[in-house]
Amino acid sequence: MSAEGRQVMRAAIYGRKSQEKAEAVERQVETARAFATQHGWSVSDAHVFTDNGISGAEFIDRPGFTALMSAVKSKPRPFEELVLMAPDRMGREQYRTNLALLDIVEAGVRVFFYSNGDELKLDTPIAKVMLGMQNFAGEDYRAQIANKTREALRAKAQAGHVTGTRTYGYDHVAVSDHVERRINPDEAAVVVRIFETAAEGHGNRRIVNTLSAENVPAPGRKGWSKQVLKTLLVNDLYRGVVCFGRSRSAARGGSASTREAAPKAEWTTVARLELRIVSDELWAKVQRRKDATRAHFRRSADGRLLSKPESGLTAEHLLNGIGRCGVCGGALTYMSRGTRTRRSRYYCATRLHRGSCENGKGVPKVELDKLVRDKLTALCADEDQVQSLIDESRERYARTHAAQSAERANVEKETTKLEAEISRLVSALAAGTASADITGAINERRSKVEALQVKLSEPVALVVDKLAVVEGLRRAGLMVLADDREARHALRKLGVDRVVVTPDDAGGWTVEGVADLARLVGVNKGSAGLPPISPHIAGE
Ligand SMILES: [Zn+2]
Repeated sequence: MSAEGRQVMRAAIYGRKSQEKAEAVERQVETARAFATQHGWSVSDAHVFTDNGISGAEFIDRPGFTALMSAVKSKPRPFEELVLMAPDRMGREQYRTNLALLDIVEAGVRVFFYSNGDELKLDTPIAKVMLGMQNFAGEDYRAQIANKTREALRAKAQAGHVTGTRTYGYDHVAVSDHVERRINPDEAAVVVRIFETAAEGHGNRRIVNTLSAENVPAPGRKGWSKQVLKTLLVNDLYRGVVCFGRSRSAARGGSASTREAAPKAEWTTVARLELRIVSDELWAKVQRRKDATRAHFRRSADGRLLSKPESGLTAEHLLNGIGRCGVCGGALTYMSRGTRTRRSRYYCATRLHRGSCENGKGVPKVELDKLVRDKLTALCADEDQVQSLIDESRERYARTHAAQSAERANVEKETTKLEAEISRLVSALAAGTASADITGAINERRSKVEALQVKLSEPVALVVDKLAVVEGLRRAGLMVLADDREARHALRKLGVDRVVVTPDDAGGWTVEGVADLARLVGVNKGSAGLPPISPHIAGE
């Protein structure tokens, strides 16, 4: 529809403000409305488009802008003019801003900037260059603001002031106009323990299980996880090094919130030895261990991850680390001594390394592997047996949990006590009778309460869905048939941690396993003995 026939022409308004100091959106709209009225244009409320608190680098997640662009392209065209303060309101990324304004003009909407009263003309090359220059300036301004913000944060980090969220092992303490870290002794002890066990070669999964089983309060409400440990074990703060600027914003594809890893040369690192929790020696030991583990990740030719070991030790053989010597409880380990007369076997590692176990009998690898596989495959197909294992898991869990209920009552009591203390401290703070470090005292109690609440939120009954177990077993059953690595993975999934092999007088072996079916469906507690696989006579 053409505008010629109309008495009054209709104008739309666009206003945007990001975090930076800029004129409020309401003020922009008001001024633009006055500008339109001055020219005799009417402005319908439906055609006032605004974005508040949205970066000029954002072109995707910007509702007002998106609505404006679709209105401009709709037919019949709902307005003839668009009024905004300046080109930088449309955006601060030069290419996208140029294109958006060009789209509007080409749709037949005249664009006016109220800051100088000019109409945007894009009908000559020079006019386009002029707009381009303005939008370059707009983007440059945004880059400078970003630099200043980054520099301010960097300066804070250098001065030892906290710029981010709390790191496990430290408390945040308000010191005059800023916040500093202080070591939290309880959490620091946990951190040291984690580093020490990792240095001994325990995998993250194993450490997570130990911490969870002992109800050690975890950072955050979600509890301990492999991801938490992964992050924790590489955090330089624990060796007294504050590291800032590892990531930076990288507006890309029209999205302002994208971030990317910054090159190491741009990181700010500051030594703050008073924050050290882990010695350099222990730190280095853990990093060496983790490097070794990473080196063991096997990849196929196209880079796909084929498998990963459970710890720094390779586990190429099905029962390495899972098999146990029934005489001393030590690990069984594969020894490649295969000759025509003596096949490759698993041997008691305690005997091999220390000579302190009398079990010198090797268990032929092929037979034992096959036995375990067959047994698991059969188990996976036997629903009745699965049901009785589930029942047994539940009972075991109920038994351990009964022992914990006394502890639970204590936790509840302690929580109530801490909450009373907090409210006392808060009243003191409000009454102005508080000592200097009262906020620290409050925060300390709050974090204790949070940690206790995590304990209380733990499930009181083991819920295992039989269908889920059966389905898990079916999948695991298929994996058990695959190669050693896949099958090992299946064993872990099935929660088969131990397969105990005891030699008997007849020259055979008794084989027993323990499966944790709860783990199969993602529950952390409860396990049940696999039925003994016995007796088994294996010839030389
Ligand atoms: Zn042994």
